[in-house]
Amino acid sequence: MSLATNERYRMFIGGELVESAGGEYRETIDPATEEPIAEFAAGTSEDVDRAVAAARDALPEWQAKTPTERGEVVERLADVVRENAETLAEVETRDQGKPLSDSRGAVEGLAQTLEYYAGAAGKLEGKSIPTGGEEVDFTVREPYGVSAQIIPWNAPLNLMGQGTAPALVAGNTVVIKPAPTTPLSAIHLAELFEDAGVPDGVINVVTGGAEPGAALSGHEDVDTVSFTGSVQTGAAVMESAAANITPVTLELGGKNPAVVLPDANLEEAADAIALGIFMNTGQICAAADRAIVHEDVYDEFLDLVVERADAYELGDGIDDPDMGPLNYEAHFEKVMDYIDLGVEEGATIETGGEALNRDGYFVEPTVFSDVETDMRIAQEEIFGPVLCVIPFSERREAVDIANDVEMGLTGGVFSDDIRAALNTAEQIEAGSVYVNQWFGGPIGAPFGGFKKSGIGREMGMEAFDSYLQTKNICVNLTER
Ligand code: NAD
Repeated sequence: MSLATNERYRMFIGGELVESAGGEYRETIDPATEEPIAEFAAGTSEDVDRAVAAARDALPEWQAKTPTERGEVVERLADVVRENAETLAEVETRDQGKPLSDSRGAVEGLAQTLEYYAGAAGKLEGKSIPTGGEEVDFTVREPYGVSAQIIPWNAPLNLMGQGTAPALVAGNTVVIKPAPTTPLSAIHLAELFEDAGVPDGVINVVTGGAEPGAALSGHEDVDTVSFTGSVQTGAAVMESAAANITPVTLELGGKNPAVVLPDANLEEAADAIALGIFMNTGQICAAADRAIVHEDVYDEFLDLVVERADAYELGDGIDDPDMGPLNYEAHFEKVMDYIDLGVEEGATIETGGEALNRDGYFVEPTVFSDVETDMRIAQEEIFGPVLCVIPFSERREAVDIANDVEMGLTGGVFSDDIRAALNTAEQIEAGSVYVNQWFGGPIGAPFGGFKKSGIGREMGMEAFDSYLQTKNICVNLTER
């Protein structure tokens, strides 16, 4: 499979590639060149109805399989992902913009996620509850039914995999709605489902923008909604799901703090924080957005992190540079507006701050110093390669600054003092805290947000809580 310009992509419903109900198509743009890559079907609420009906029709056959049989299908999906790794990586890079090595890593991560959940298939146990009487009481965990998966554009393959894999293994069928600027990897993946032996209707992909997203989250035949995206859209999803009391799992934004204590290894901290904020051009919910640095080491840390920012080579993701472009034009403009705002608010640009003078949505890695916690650049998610460096003098103050935002997705602490590091980690209000590193944690580690960063957890065995509901069964054993 190779990706030809202006090729047309249909949606995947009930095991078939189909046109949208309206017959319309939208374009997806290569963010490194601003040239169209392909057209994809513009899904409507009517297409969502079709996809949800296909997913519902597929439930009896899928749920009749043993957990092990479902695990085997998901395992085969991992195999076909690996067999098609290079194509999937290339598609992801063209559509999303990220360096090819990162896309290769994402594809391997997807395969490993599928394998992790395939291996969990036979381990989804209930429990028995002591009654003290002539009864037996036990729980079973049952799938919800049709799972909607609404995906953002920053890491489509990974984010699709981490919801879909546990949903399927648990016995749900799924309808996936990728983001309108990065629909291609999901459709390419759909073309591989048949090779993996996924029964028709078990996985469906509806492409398009807000219309199919909203239709899915408010659909009365959808039994559970998993949404990854912005806080604002997450609130809208929750509101539409409320009409049917549909449970939601929300993985939303972050404005994550990295606290650098005075005894930290500064080279290590600068490496980790640069990776944390510049990887994927800063378009990661878990990014290291704010470095909160002790005043004694502030200047030295600043020099080290600026040195790392300056070393990044930007380019077309397909040429595998250190950093690719932002994903689409309006997002590029939003990031540039935040950089202007930072200057207006009185912060100092230590490096970067400019767009590249070429086609594509390229922004230099940018480091702001003199940032105060009440500035908007320190409060709002920029979702670009923009680091805010904030000084502190007392550890308690660092924790206050770290927690002085509406979101609480990830955080980090850098220190060689185990007590100081762990005490700080405990006080950071976030679902994941990294110590002396950034982006740590295996597939088995749960991931999700405190505060406005979300509801529920993905990854690890905790993800199954979004896809299985508990039924208690109590049996009367009194002899008659
Ligand atoms: P977004 O909220 O704009 O869109 C996410 C998805 O929702 C897209 O598929 C979009 O088409 C769809 N959508 C749009 N309007 C909708 C509506 N009214 N109802 C239902 N669906 C609708 O988010 P984005 O800009 O694509 O992604 C960036 C955001 O995602 C950032 O805030 C980032 O932090 C967050 N994110 C969070 C995680 C996490 O795990 N917590 C991971 C990645 C990204």
